[in-house]
Formats: sequence, C-alpha cells, structure tokens
Amino acid sequence: MKARPVDAVTQDIRRLARDMIDTMYDRDGIGLAAPQIGQSLQLFVANPSQERGREMVVLNPVVESASGRATVTEGCLSLPNVWQRIARAARVRLSGMDLSGQPLTIEAEGLLAIVLQHEVDHLQGCLFVDHLPWFRRLWVRDARRFLRHGVLRGSQP
Ligand code: ZN
Repeated sequence: MKARPVDAVTQDIRRLARDMIDTMYDRDGIGLAAPQIGQSLQLFVANPSQERGREMVVLNPVVESASGRATVTEGCLSLPNVWQRIARAARVRLSGMDLSGQPLTIEAEGLLAIVLQHEVDHLQGCLFVDHLPWFRRLWVRDARRFLRHGVLRGSQP
C-alpha cells in the first residue's frame, strides 16, 4: 500500500521523526520508513554513516533521476534475518521536503543511494525482496517460515 503524503510538518510529525531516529539506532539500522512502524506516511529517516547527528529526515520523497547499476546485499528491519543481493541504480537524485517544511534535493551514490531507494520503496508499499526473481522470493518465504516455526532455534543448545 502506498503511504499518504505529509501535508504539513506538525508537532506530531516532528515527534514521529524523532521516534523513528531512535528506533533506527536502537535496532542498529541505517534507515527506517514510517510504514515500518505502522504509520502510513511518506516519511523516512536514514543514516548510512550511523554517526549520531548525521541522520536525514525526508518527507514526500520523489526519485527525480536514477542511473547506473549497483548490486548490494540488503537487509531490512521488517524482515529480520533475511539478507539478499539486490540490483538497484548506482546514483539517484531525490527531491522532497525536510523537517522544517523546506524543499530538499539529495544527490547520492554508494550506500546512501541504495538506502534512499530502499526507503522510497517502503513508502510505495514495496519490500526489497520484491525485487528478487520469483524463485528467490519463494526461497526467502520458506526460509522465514522455517525460522518462525523455531526449527532452527529448537536445535540449538
Ligand atoms: Zn527496509
């Protein structure tokens, strides 16, 4: 499901962004989108450096351009224990709004470009495994079911 645009930066939106930044650090993530914590809003936070104070908050993001190709092993806080190599654009330009309601443009490459595409996907209702060919998606689904039923956990001391 596609998330709803943020109309105005209210106190609630600022509080949500702060909570999301805390959650991202708590869970050792480098990005988090509002739908991942049950809020259907076009808002994500990201910080590939994991250095406090360098987090970015983007509202209503739009990918303006994408070029090149990069394949990186990705994981997601919404799919614990799943890591898959995903092909994405190597460079992206993204526009949106910042937390003070001002327009913002981000030109990114490297890990940041990957994170931005991953988070924008969440806002479109898409997970990184949706980029996999169908047979690998099935494999991921079966592996997750296996983990959920505790078969692996049960075999550990
Ligand atoms: Zn994710």
